[in-house]
Parts: sequence; structure tokens; C-alpha cells
Amino acid sequence: MRLLLVEDDAVIAHELVLRWERNAWAVDVAGTLQAADAMLALRPVDLVVLDLGLPDGDGLHWLARLRRNNRSTPVLVLTARDRVADRVEGLRTGADDYLVKPFAVEELDARVEVLTRRAQRSREDFVQYGQLTWYGNEGRVDIAGQSLVLFPREFEVLGLLVRRAPRLVPKRALIDALAERNLEVSDSAAEVYVSRLRRKLAGSGLAIRTLRGFGYVLEAES
Ligand code: CA
Repeated sequence: MRLLLVEDDAVIAHELVLRWERNAWAVDVAGTLQAADAMLALRPVDLVVLDLGLPDGDGLHWLARLRRNNRSTPVLVLTARDRVADRVEGLRTGADDYLVKPFAVEELDARVEVLTRRAQRSREDFVQYGQLTWYGNEGRVDIAGQSLVLFPREFEVLGLLVRRAPRLVPKRALIDALAERNLEVSDSAAEVYVSRLRRKLAGSGLAIRTLRGFGYVLEAES
């Protein structure tokens, strides 16, 4: 995991870098907005921790500019500006979280973990396996660039299989995952979805194998 800390207070920056490197997180530190731009251009990061009062400008303006061409990198604002109006403005400008100084480092760490976990999950919403591409956020599946027409439950089942492929998905896990999405499913219904999917995948180079008594595996045919 790589973080970019934009902070001109050398004491805070030093303390956080020491702490985060102990967590085995890689940290780039920028003391100015200009340095932050240069570092982001050099390599992408998993999270930006952003002070607002910086020597060469206001962190909020920088954030607004960042959001115009980078919607996905999570940003946590860390600032002494503690009014409700400041927090609201920070979040509306595109911050994913907002923590007021003075702060407890344990709380900052916990918030960093939440944001990076969330980002990780949304990356998992795009999966490629063999000729198949599964777009979780868009409810879409392509095979060799051709769209595959699926019903919602078939889509969820295929999503589960493709995210674990080529590993086994226990039948129970499949039923539980559908139940979590408020899609009620019986044991035999799960089999029905799998057999429908199997028909739709025919000729795609992908096959769903049943391991009787265990579950299902999505395999790329050789
Ligand atoms: Ca500052």
C-alpha cells in the first residue's frame, strides 16, 4: 500500500511517516501542493492524506482540481479547520473522509484502513477471466467483447464464480451470497441458475464444472 501525505508541518509528517512505515505502508511526503502534483504524476497512490493550509495554496482548491480528472483515488482531509461548514465543504469538494487536528493517530490509521479497503473492493468489481469480463458496478458481462444477456441472479452467480476462478465455490457460499443480496434462493434454485449459465456460456471457452457434494468451479477450457 502506498500513501501520499500532503503536510507542511514537519513534526506531524515525521511522526506519521515513522508510524506508517512500521505498518509496512510506503509513504511519499509532500510539503507543498506543487510537490504533491509532482509525486502523483510520478506514480499512483492508494490514498492521499491532505492538510488544507499549505504554503503554496489551499488544499481544498487542489482537491477540487484533482477530482476533475481523478475521481477514484481516496482522499482523507486532515486539518485544523473544525467547523461543521468546513467539514461539509471538504466532503462536498470530493474528500472521502475528514479528520480534525488534533487527532488520535489510532483513529487516523483506522480511517486510512477503511478507505483503502473500500477502494480495494471497488477494484474487485472488475474481473477478467479467459475471454470473460465481469463489470460488477455496471451489471454487465462481456465474452470476447460481446455482451452476454443475463438475469440478475445469473449475473450474481457468475460474479461469484469468476471472482474465485479457477477455485471452487462451495454451493453454500453461493446460496449465502445471493441471500445477502436479498435474492432468496433454495438449494435446487441454485442448481437451476448454474445450469442456465452453463447454457449461456456454451461455446465461450468457459465451463462451469460441478464437484458433486462440494460446489462449482468456473474453468477456462483448454
Ligand atoms: Ca498546514
